[in-house]
Amino acid sequence: MTAPLAPGGTIGIIGGGQLGRMAALAAARLGYRVHVFCPEADSPAQQVSAAATVADYTDLAALEAFARSVDVVTFEFENIPADSVRLLSSLVPVRPSWRVLEVAQDRIHEKRFFNSIGIATAPWAEIAGPEQLREAVARIGRPSILKTTRLGYDGKGQVKITESTDLDQAWSYMGNAVGVLEGFIDFAGEISVIVARGLDGAMAAFDPAWNVHANHILDTTTIPAPISDATARAALEVARRAAEALDLVGLLAVELFVTKDGAILANEMAPRPHNSGHWTIDACVTDQFEQFVRAVCGLPLGSPARHSDAVMRNLIGDDVNDWAAILADPDAKLHLYGKAEARSGRKMGHVTRIRPRNS
Ligand code: AMP
Repeated sequence: MTAPLAPGGTIGIIGGGQLGRMAALAAARLGYRVHVFCPEADSPAQQVSAAATVADYTDLAALEAFARSVDVVTFEFENIPADSVRLLSSLVPVRPSWRVLEVAQDRIHEKRFFNSIGIATAPWAEIAGPEQLREAVARIGRPSILKTTRLGYDGKGQVKITESTDLDQAWSYMGNAVGVLEGFIDFAGEISVIVARGLDGAMAAFDPAWNVHANHILDTTTIPAPISDATARAALEVARRAAEALDLVGLLAVELFVTKDGAILANEMAPRPHNSGHWTIDACVTDQFEQFVRAVCGLPLGSPARHSDAVMRNLIGDDVNDWAAILADPDAKLHLYGKAEARSGRKMGHVTRIRPRNS
């Protein structure tokens, strides 16, 4: 087993968004320095980090110099080219490993992985052309959803196939890229579980979170989730089993559908801190960002225990203009990401309200 990275060391973070920003703040609390690598100048993470490299994810010379200036590398954004991650991995410990990223970058790999370890998903089929789409729709039925396999997030790169959808049009709308067709799940709700796994294989999971989306973007996360104990246990088991099977070091967020009879189906996973874990900052002994830093640095994990119930609401686009009204509520915990421009659909911040724990 590798020795822990002692405080004072430098953590390299690939990606400069709000997840990197909040991870950098947690790293600073533990005495680490953070060096951010991302293509945009003045990124949310850069604003709170000791150093930044502003370069493209394909710039191998910049990646090499970055790798040589840090003690460990991790990601807040996983859609970076495999060659770039391989280069980093040859120079410095990368946690989680590039194999984990490869699985999480591609919806087909992800679903195969879930199914291979006995985790159920919506029925799905790989789609490489219009003929395959017709066959798959005949088998899986309507409604269903056609998604791109790579680079999709927040509902981008998706088209719902209803009774009236023309399949050739749906295929060309997707840009003729390889896709995956999924049966549409008429779910009771959506939950997520975030589990941390350390270098020694120890695991610690946060309580399942109940997520409500608006316009395909996470709107609110509520804790505790209104699910049975059996569903919660099954969800935690799915996250642990996936983290173990991936031999993950870091965090794994698994998004799940809860069906109307209480069963769970895995939708997707992300090997990094997750928007649905922001509530942990204000409601847990150790929040997801500190847990992430601990895992990546080889430190013991902290307690994920929840001391409060919580509701987290994302501030999307112009919502951020309500900051003064939010701050006027002395119980609201406001978190802003330092983004200059409030574009529509952009995650600008979040607000968490906690209550004494009730269960
Ligand atoms: P995704 O990009 O896969 O996370 O999808 C974004 C959102 O679309 C999910 O959080 C769900 O609300 C919805 N969605 C995705 N896939 C399905 C599905 N197979 N059945 C029903 N809703 C879905």
